[in-house]
Amino acid sequence: MRRVLVTGGGSGIGRAVARDFAAGGDHVTIAGRRLDALQETDGGRGMECRTADVADEASMKALFDTPFDIVVANAGMGRAARVADTSLDLWNTTLAVTLTGVFLTFREALAGMKSGGRLIAISSIAGLHGEANTAAYAAAKHGVMGLVKSLALEVARHGITCNAVCPGWVDTPMAETAVANVMKRFDIGRDEAEARVFGQKPSGRIVKPEEVAAAVRYLASPEATMVNGHGLVITGGET
Ligand code: NAD
Repeated sequence: MRRVLVTGGGSGIGRAVARDFAAGGDHVTIAGRRLDALQETDGGRGMECRTADVADEASMKALFDTPFDIVVANAGMGRAARVADTSLDLWNTTLAVTLTGVFLTFREALAGMKSGGRLIAISSIAGLHGEANTAAYAAAKHGVMGLVKSLALEVARHGITCNAVCPGWVDTPMAETAVANVMKRFDIGRDEAEARVFGQKPSGRIVKPEEVAAAVRYLASPEATMVNGHGLVITGGET
């Protein structure tokens, strides 16, 4: 049975990824800051729930007391702000969680990972091109892509792959918060706020968390053995 770790497993994409692996019969560990949210993800599926802060080195060292075959660095955060309005605190927190958190997750995972292992980051299309009002988040996600591409070259000869998925907007609490903030800030209704935040979508909709989970499942599969250092875009044709 494959041992899978998903960080930020208490909501959104992490929850969908964890449930997808559990449904496939894998042994799943989910890590996050809130035990109640992790237990909700589990919902009796037999997952192991571990509290951990991905930005905290000691916490991440403690999390990897047993080795994993598949590690999904999903935890991340971002808040909309123009560069001129981005405080140093917001900048540092965004990078600590969204970039350093992935570095710590992968570095600790490597110690016990055997040939066939999979390192998968949940990046974003914000890691591939710039976006106004989200510089800290985009900088962190670009950093994730640099880490993924570089680490892929280090682990390839050990039979391990390191890849990312790069979704556009996904229907999760993160997207909901972005829409709610725009509704409040501009005193507008949901439809207008969604149009402003999400923009025009070729497919007419944003991505479902389960569609990201399916891409992660592929990158973790034996069929993806020669896919390495890649960022798999999931946008319904937007980019
Ligand atoms: P979300 O807010 O529901 O999930 C983020 C998870 O990370 C939460 O469970 C949160 O508790 C956890 N987390 C945050 N800081 C943490 C920390 N320090 N330690 C441990 N856990 C922490 O949002 P989501 O959309 O599911 O986001 C998951 C990932 O997907 C993030 O990396 C995000 O950047 C990325 N992503 C999201 C979208 C989107 O539109 N929702 C698009 C592209 C990429």
